[in-house]
Amino acid sequence: MAHDEFSLIRQWTSRSDGQEGDGLTVGIGDDAAVYTPTPEMEVVACCDAMVETVHFLKETMHPSDIGYKAVVSNVSDVAAMGGLARYALVTIAVSPGWSAGQTAHIYDGIYEACEQYGVKLIGGDTVSAPDALHLSVTVLGEVEKGRAIRRSHAEPGQLVFVTGDVGTSAAGLYLLLKKKETGEPISEAFQGLVKAHQRPSAQVEAGRILLASRACGALNDVSDGLASELWEIAEASRVELEIDASLIPISKEVRACAGQAGKDPLDWAFYGGEDYQLVGTVDESSIDTLSGDFAAAGIPFTIIGRVTSRAAGASVSCLRAGERSPLPKAGFNHFGRREGG
Ligand code: ADP
Ligand code: MG
Repeated sequence: MAHDEFSLIRQWTSRSDGQEGDGLTVGIGDDAAVYTPTPEMEVVACCDAMVETVHFLKETMHPSDIGYKAVVSNVSDVAAMGGLARYALVTIAVSPGWSAGQTAHIYDGIYEACEQYGVKLIGGDTVSAPDALHLSVTVLGEVEKGRAIRRSHAEPGQLVFVTGDVGTSAAGLYLLLKKKETGEPISEAFQGLVKAHQRPSAQVEAGRILLASRACGALNDVSDGLASELWEIAEASRVELEIDASLIPISKEVRACAGQAGKDPLDWAFYGGEDYQLVGTVDESSIDTLSGDFAAAGIPFTIIGRVTSRAAGASVSCLRAGERSPLPKAGFNHFGRREGG
């Protein structure tokens, strides 16, 4: 990458100038950032990388979408601990196919998401890459001491819930890939699906409602698909989960899109991923209160199953068309594309 592009990225990160205060002592511009966590809170840290051709294509994501989504996926991880994201660091490895203008747009998206979720960009690294663009975002957040919601704390008797709809991002990706292949424009009715893929939302408020309720056992965000997240909870908690496929929230647009595509919308829900909804377990006795809290916040909250028992060999089963069978784990796996059955 040419030297002037490095200075251009510096220019773009100058939007972070003068952001010190509210716990931040040193922002971008020194060797490292310095901040003080809020008293009574502990630090929640996570990072997530996006690699061109593995996580996105130039044809399916505008550069600003890439930056935006990279921040959201991290904010979502913090939300899945019940926490709030505060700071972000960004490593960008730019390959020759990317112009200075395009990388600048990545920062437009990064700043847009940061602003939306109250996150300050406090540093990063800028390097060149030989072939594909890599974007890695680290988010530092906080959560009340000792209160982070763990994926390992599901208890028998609890109910399994999911926020919002699932399968939406996968439907959007399907439409974008089809457009890339055939050149056919995407109909107005399906623009919301495309937006869900390119500009997902993190369920921060849902995470805070769940933390405040003290009724949440396990919690995960839906980054790799509902099946994969459910299995992670079952394995970490050593429990059996029973899911009822007919209860899984899938929008009518996704169903219509799947109908036209000859696909099963449940496959998108279970194995699509990137919906960034929250899935977890809650005490049955708290359902009425929680449903009320979620309704008041305007966030769909749907019970999709239950934790049946403790089990050394964890399992997830799914009731579908009157038959209960093990839910295949398969989801997107970056080293084997699709794994499991
Ligand atoms: P150093 O050589 O000390 O590592 P750099 O010149 O790499 O410093 O970075 C200078 C400042 O710019 C640091 O505060 C660093 O965190 C920030 N920075 C560098 N690259 C990025 C980036 N891609 N996004 C955000 N901040 C960045
Ligand atoms: Mg550096």
